[in-house]
Amino acid sequence: MSKGRFGDFGGQYIPETLMNALISLEAAYNKAKEDAGFRAELGALLSEYAGRPSRLYFAKKMSAGLGGAKLYFKREDLNHTGSHKINNALGQALLAKKMGKTRIIAETGAGQHGVAAATAAALLGLDCEVFMGKEDTERQALNVYRMELLGTKVHSVTSGTQTLKDAVNETMREWAGRIADTHYVLGSVMGPHPFPTMVRDFQSVISMEAREQILQAEGRLPAVVIACVGGGSNAAGMFHHFVEDKEVRLVGCEAAGRGLDTAEHAATISKGETGVFHGMKSIFCQNSEGQIAPVYSISAGLDYPGIGPEHAFWHSTGRAEYVAVTDEEAVSAFEYFSRTEGIIPAVESAHAIAHAKKLAPTLSKDQNIIVCLSGRGDKDVAAIARYRGKNLSE
Ligand SMILES: *Cc1c(COP(=O)(O)O)cnc(C)c1O
Repeated sequence: MSKGRFGDFGGQYIPETLMNALISLEAAYNKAKEDAGFRAELGALLSEYAGRPSRLYFAKKMSAGLGGAKLYFKREDLNHTGSHKINNALGQALLAKKMGKTRIIAETGAGQHGVAAATAAALLGLDCEVFMGKEDTERQALNVYRMELLGTKVHSVTSGTQTLKDAVNETMREWAGRIADTHYVLGSVMGPHPFPTMVRDFQSVISMEAREQILQAEGRLPAVVIACVGGGSNAAGMFHHFVEDKEVRLVGCEAAGRGLDTAEHAATISKGETGVFHGMKSIFCQNSEGQIAPVYSISAGLDYPGIGPEHAFWHSTGRAEYVAVTDEEAVSAFEYFSRTEGIIPAVESAHAIAHAKKLAPTLSKDQNIIVCLSGRGDKDVAAIARYRGKNLSE
C-alpha cells in the first residue's frame, strides 16, 4: 500500500500551497509516534484530564431483555467534554505545541469537535479559532457560547450550504494562508494524508482499552463490534485493534435520516459513490453531475456527505459491514437506552444502539457485542423532545 493510501482510497488531493504543511505535519507526527516522551505526556493528559481509561460497561438489563448476546458499552460518553472527540483534540493540540505552533484552527458541525479543540487549546495555552457554518451557529448557539467561554473565537461560515462541509473548506483555506504559526486540528478520520491515519491512531486508544477489558471480563473476543459513522473516527478507533481478529465482525452504522428511499439521509456507503473531495479519494453522497449532495440526519454529528478513506477500504474488502439506521430507529433506541440502562446516549451513538438491539437477539447468550457509546446525550434532549412534538420552552 503506498503512503497515505488505503487500497485505492485516501491520498492527498490538495492545492500546492498546503503540500509543505502536510509534509512537515507527517514528519512531526511520525517522530512523535515513536517518541516515548510524547506518548507519556499524551497518556497523562488522557488519564488525568480526560478521565481515561473509559469503562467497558456490561448492560445487564438490556442483555437480559433482548435475550441473546451480552451487550457491552465502551463509555466514551464519560470522557471530559462528553465524547470521544477529546482523544483526538488533545493528541493534535499537543503535537501542534511540539511543532512550535502557537495557534490551532478547527472546523465544527454541531460544535462537539469545536468544543473539544477549544478545551485542548485552553489547557495547553494555544490560541484557537473555530469555523462553523452559519446555519449551525444558529442551531447550536449554546456550543458557540461554550467555545467563547473557553477563549476561542468562532467564525460563522456563510459560503455554500453554511454547514459542516463548508466549514471544512473554510478552515483549509485559512490554514493554506497561515501555515507558519497554525495547525489545523481536523476532527475526524478524513481529509488528506496524514489526517486519516493520525486521527485513527489517536482514537485507537478506544479499542486498545476495549480489547483488554473484554478479554479480562469474558476471557474471549467479542463476536461483533458496532459503532456509528459520521466521518468515521469513533468507529475507526473502536475497530482498529480488532481488525486483525478475523473472527470479530465490525459493523458501522450510518444515518438513513428520513429513509434511504428519500433524499434526506447521510448514508454514504449505502447510497454514495467514489469521488474526490476535502483532499481525499473516498465515497461521497453526490448528484448525477458528481457534485456533493446535501445530506440530512437528526444527528448533527453524522451529517457529513462522505466517509473516511479507511472505511471506504474496509467496505471494499468486506472487512467491515455498514448498515443504515433511520432517525426513527435512532430516536427509539435513544429512549429505550435511557429507560433501560439509565444512560442518555448521544443521538449519534443511538444509531449504533439501534443496530445492536436488532442484532443481539440473533446471537447466542455466550457471545458478546461491544458498542461504542461515542458520547452523552444532554446536547440532544431538546431536539428529541421536538422530534416527539414537545416544545420545552412552553
Ligand atoms: C462527532 C460525533 C460523532 C461522529 O463523528 P465520527 O468521526 O464518525 O466519530 C459520533 N458521535 C458523537 C458523540 C460525536 O460527537
